Amino acid sequence: MATDVLRNIRVRIEKAAQKLGAKTVPDWMLEELLDCEEKFYISVNIKIPDPANPLEKIPKKFNAVRVWHRKPDPEDIWKGGLRFHPDVTLSQMEGHAIEMSIKSWIMKLPHGGAKGGIAIDPYAWPKETLEDVTLQFSKRAIRRGIMSPRIDIMAPDMGTDARIMDWIRDYYILSTGDNIIGNGVVTGKSVDKGGILGRKSATGLGMHLALQTFCEAGEIVLPKKRTAIVQGFGNVSSNFCALADEFNISVIGVVDQFGGVYCPTGLDINKMSEFAFAKTNKYKTINGSECVSPTYIKASFDELMTIGADLFVPAAMEEVITTTVAPKMNFKVVLEGANGPTLADADEILSQRGIKVIPDIYANSGGVTVSYFEWARNTRRFHSDPRICIPENDETSVKTALQTMFRSNGLELIQTAKKYKIPYREAGYALAIERVSPDIKASNRMD
Ligand code: NAD
Repeated sequence: MATDVLRNIRVRIEKAAQKLGAKTVPDWMLEELLDCEEKFYISVNIKIPDPANPLEKIPKKFNAVRVWHRKPDPEDIWKGGLRFHPDVTLSQMEGHAIEMSIKSWIMKLPHGGAKGGIAIDPYAWPKETLEDVTLQFSKRAIRRGIMSPRIDIMAPDMGTDARIMDWIRDYYILSTGDNIIGNGVVTGKSVDKGGILGRKSATGLGMHLALQTFCEAGEIVLPKKRTAIVQGFGNVSSNFCALADEFNISVIGVVDQFGGVYCPTGLDINKMSEFAFAKTNKYKTINGSECVSPTYIKASFDELMTIGADLFVPAAMEEVITTTVAPKMNFKVVLEGANGPTLADADEILSQRGIKVIPDIYANSGGVTVSYFEWARNTRRFHSDPRICIPENDETSVKTALQTMFRSNGLELIQTAKKYKIPYREAGYALAIERVSPDIKASNRMD
């Protein structure tokens, strides 16, 4: 169970603030950056069939939380994922909400970071229960004034997807009657519910664009045809794998919480998807996928870490690269798809071993960026920064807009790393804080 997410983020913010100096980040601002402004607990009570007597219903309670970090400008919205996972805790969500702010500020998006989740295993319950839980959560969130296209916009995260976003969107419009901008209450929706083309693959695509930016800038040198080992085969990871070929990457290993598979000549991603997303595969796991080809070998996470590749792509849970794992990792680059996959202490080990890390706060920001495009289109709100151009709703325009933002902001991150002689992760935090510090100072004066 994740316990250190918040501590990790705080260590990183403190380090970056130290580099920037007290003139840019005075003590009061550091305190604001380290803490979240609002924390909501929501009890989700539903009725489920009684296992002892399926004709009767019994009450069941699920705990939910939603956290808001900081907004540089009071007119900004809160934005961040909604997770369905049994291990959701307040402190974990606080850490991820702070990360969301940092990520948005690196990409110049007008957001305060938010994050939330419901402590539920989405694979253990039928569709009816998941829908019930989603609607009860939405009802309470709307009543408490948290859920609105003008206030806080949720999006898919672990265990949630377009189907769940569609349920929230439908319920919001039905219960508030807001059929003008109600579509904007969530992002990552189906296209016929107001979603944007390219959102589903946006995080995976963004990770490729992040690596491309670092390679083109000469920061990372890799062979023309690269190999990768990926953790997870969910939304982020399967989309990363599906695009790998286009970016000259051969995925030679994939692993999830149940097991993994390895093939030195490359896995067939279409066949892996057929296996993982088959109707009969309840947990959507790739465990057992060695049956896909006689050349595939079953492999554990530890085995894949020592086998190694050019890239390791953690795209599942937080805190998987620990001080025990980091010394045995046989990779040139870590490209972070998950939020918070590397512990702060493990970062030091990777750095000493010459393994470069393209950090989550930049690498996985494709999802929130395309979500912003979706929300801006839904609400007809456009950014005051003319460098952010909201694309048309077609995949090519979305991809081009994303590429432009990854390039320009990635190059600034690299410049920041050079200026302060710090690793990319610290540079990402420094760049984000530097960008918003005048706004935070100004809004604080207005108070
Ligand atoms: P998902 O639920 O679609 O997929 C999660 C994957 O992780 C599944 O393949 C699952 O089997 C695997 N997994 C779960 N627990 C694991 C464990 N203990 N060890 C190894 N594998 C495990 O989730 P997702 O939306 O792909 O999100 C994955 C990560 O990416 C999360 O950290 C999330 O916060 C982050 N993220 C998601 C988005 C997005 O757009 N969905 C955007 C940015 C970051």
